[in-house]
Amino acid sequence: MAKYVYSFNEGTKEMKNLLGGKGANLAEMTNIGLPVPFGFTITTDACKKYNDDGDKLDQVIVDEIWEHLAELEEVMGKKFEDNENPLLVSVRSGAPVSMPGMMDTILNLGLNDVSVEGLAKKTENERFAYDSYRRFIQMFGDVVMEIKKAKFDEIFDGQKKKVGAEVDVDLNTEDLKEIIIEYKKLVKNELGRDFPQDPKEQLLEAIQAVFKSWNNDRAILYRKLNNIPNSLGTAVNVQSMVFGNSGNDSGTGVAFTRNPANGENELFGEFLVNAQGEDVVAGIRTPQPISEMAEAFPEVYSQFAKVSKALENHYKDMQDMEFTVEDRKLYMLQTRNGKRTAAAAVKVAVDLVNEDLIDTETAVMRIEPSQINQLLHPTFDPKDLVKLTPVAKGLPASPGAATGEIYFTAEDAAKASAEGKKVILVREETSPEDLAGMAAAEGILTARGGMTSHAAVVARGMGKCCVAGCKEIIVNDTAKTLTVGGKVYEEGFNISLNGTDGSVYAEAVNTVSPELSGDFGTIMEWADELRTLRVRTNADNPRDAQQAIDFGAEGIGLCRTEHMFFEEDRIPKIRRMILADTEEERREALEGLLPYQKNDFIGIFKVMGELPVTIRLLDPPLHEFLPKNEVDINYLSEQFNIPHDKIVNKTTELHEFNPMLGHRGCRLAVTYPEIAEMQTEAIISAALQVRKEDGLDIVPEIMVPLIGELKELEFVKKTIVEVADKLIAESGDDMKYMVGTMIEIPRAALTADEIAEEAEFFSFGTNDLTQMGFGFSRDDTGEIIKEYVEKGILDADPFQSIDTKGIGKLVSMAVEGGRKTRPNIKLGICGEHGGDPSSIHFCHNVGLNYVSCSPFRVPIARLSAAQAAVEERRKG
Ligand code: ADP
Ligand code: MG
Ligand code: MG
Repeated sequence: MAKYVYSFNEGTKEMKNLLGGKGANLAEMTNIGLPVPFGFTITTDACKKYNDDGDKLDQVIVDEIWEHLAELEEVMGKKFEDNENPLLVSVRSGAPVSMPGMMDTILNLGLNDVSVEGLAKKTENERFAYDSYRRFIQMFGDVVMEIKKAKFDEIFDGQKKKVGAEVDVDLNTEDLKEIIIEYKKLVKNELGRDFPQDPKEQLLEAIQAVFKSWNNDRAILYRKLNNIPNSLGTAVNVQSMVFGNSGNDSGTGVAFTRNPANGENELFGEFLVNAQGEDVVAGIRTPQPISEMAEAFPEVYSQFAKVSKALENHYKDMQDMEFTVEDRKLYMLQTRNGKRTAAAAVKVAVDLVNEDLIDTETAVMRIEPSQINQLLHPTFDPKDLVKLTPVAKGLPASPGAATGEIYFTAEDAAKASAEGKKVILVREETSPEDLAGMAAAEGILTARGGMTSHAAVVARGMGKCCVAGCKEIIVNDTAKTLTVGGKVYEEGFNISLNGTDGSVYAEAVNTVSPELSGDFGTIMEWADELRTLRVRTNADNPRDAQQAIDFGAEGIGLCRTEHMFFEEDRIPKIRRMILADTEEERREALEGLLPYQKNDFIGIFKVMGELPVTIRLLDPPLHEFLPKNEVDINYLSEQFNIPHDKIVNKTTELHEFNPMLGHRGCRLAVTYPEIAEMQTEAIISAALQVRKEDGLDIVPEIMVPLIGELKELEFVKKTIVEVADKLIAESGDDMKYMVGTMIEIPRAALTADEIAEEAEFFSFGTNDLTQMGFGFSRDDTGEIIKEYVEKGILDADPFQSIDTKGIGKLVSMAVEGGRKTRPNIKLGICGEHGGDPSSIHFCHNVGLNYVSCSPFRVPIARLSAAQAAVEERRKG
């Protein structure tokens, strides 16, 4: 027979799906002997049945509730409907996953006009009894009867004003009685019925209200946004009350077993004397730090400290606890794994390993990869910070720390930065025209706009520190001044921003750059021991390469050569090359580019040492390099003596309707082999030189983009091999090199077995593969995809998280085809997906050798790869 109700001594922490998180943990605490007020849990199955039955509570469930209520009465030695010494309960919702938006808790249920007097007599505390009753009416009226909370507040605050009470506890019994009369009038007015006096009726109404709240709009929206299935249902906990509001020997509090901000091993939380329920978090009175409880109730405090340790040892994780003290007796009301910052997560995990509570694998699994972004930004030196006071506070819009001189327009900021200054861009608010200035700045400060303002969104995207909506500052971009606290700061003045807490300092503060040291480094080392997937980086210059190595990259998976061409001193040369009429002219222009390219590669090889480096030949459509405005055209025309009109005509001629499907990738090397020749020469000669100079065994990997057909690769590879072999032979070195290809055209994935005859490695370019495989233009469909996700057509943006079903199938086919032909073929991924945790799981599962991602994502990739390996092993 189905069982719909469990007493607290019948459950365990593993029964979350049935009892909800709160219920399962109340049961667990009960069973390990902690002081938990007794009660029972009505299961999520009962909720499902209630909803399936068309919002009806089946008699079977009702009967079970009465049975358990009788048991509760027996345990507590009190009767629910007793007018002299009533048993009071709380009714608390609790879903299997923590879910704001569900019905709030109701306390003191069971009281009515008669039993409130009984309670007053029994406790010899009339004020307490009426305080409990007014709280109950208010909560029940708000959450079950759905009368606006503000209407109750109005009455309550009105009474406080009337009698000149500053805080709630200043209200005396008579005041509370008056409030209760008004509350009941309000109920009658709003609903046309009296406040229910029958405790059993109160209980059943409350339980059904919880079940119903599972399907309220707030809850449905929250589940949708967080991918929580609607089918879970919520449980309801009915628990005997303990009273933190029974006088100055009582109180209520919330605490973490460790500091959730920095992970320090110390009790952390707040406590409020003579208070109940949400008083602590509702900000009614300022709670005291938990340490002060040690002074007020020393014995209770030391008991609480012990319970807290016991809970942590039992759950083997930092706990977030709710408790109440009644007449100097401690009661535990809730525990769960505590939410924490990334820094705390890392410290707690490492400490728990050192305390022998968990193993390294568990520690690695505990860190949320997307969270560690927080740890990869610069921060202020804590030694300096303690001595400083912020002059203003705004919204912590984008984490990190920045110091620099203030500039008030994007143009000025960009100019100052070009002169080598560190710049903070200060704006009323930003707009797309400010992009260049934002990019040039160390940090951004705005007076207006919220967490999703232009400044906030763009700064987060750039990984740049930003304090937005700082109302205390006045920005004058004509006078170029920043006014705060009556002081005027002019252009060039040094300020500092802390994007993690929104502080603004009117001085320079030293920043420390992020390091994988200490506990973070330890977690990373443990992750490295667990993972099988290698992690490379996408880097086009020595600086990025070095950053990636510092973060633990094991090679470069994608070095884009075109980025090197965009620099100011080179772009005229590449333009000259594109505008050339004859091969000879083109070769001449390429000659001019060769030394630049070679130097770039030397720089990269020197940084990377013997780590593998994959260099991709020129990829983008040529017209991207062409001059865009008259200034550029005139410059070219003069510099190279080409008629102005010829440049304009050539530009028109090169125009393509679908450039992403046009003259790009290996197609450039097919039509202009001299480009591939120059690039090969630059790569090979750079590698030979560094081998000789530094005695390093470098094996360059040359990657041909956009292959769709084996013969394309054969053609381009022939060019590469001819140049490379000649240079190597001349050098007397016996250097090896590899030629491989991107797999980014669906046809290449389908014919991967053939392509592997020529390709020594594949690198999945999943950006293009998604674009061409899914038929979504990367540059045009952002809004459409957003709408698709909102409408539930897509689970996620396929450019962020790989579409495992479709695009993933192309990848796994290519993996299979490639390995069939060439069993030891090296397989990697270099699209944006290489730094996305769920895509990294896919890459692990499909058997790639490595992922490659931007430098700042390398630690995330190392962690995700480890978690993927552990998950696979745990599945067996
Ligand atoms: P939430 O899920 O919003 O935290 P809870 O069900 O935990 O809601 O209830 C909120 C608070 O109500 C608890 O922290 C506790 O202070 C108080 N509370 C709940 N049940 C009881 C009880 N049986 N006795 C005393 N206080 C209780
Ligand atoms: Mg709440
Ligand atoms: Mg709670």
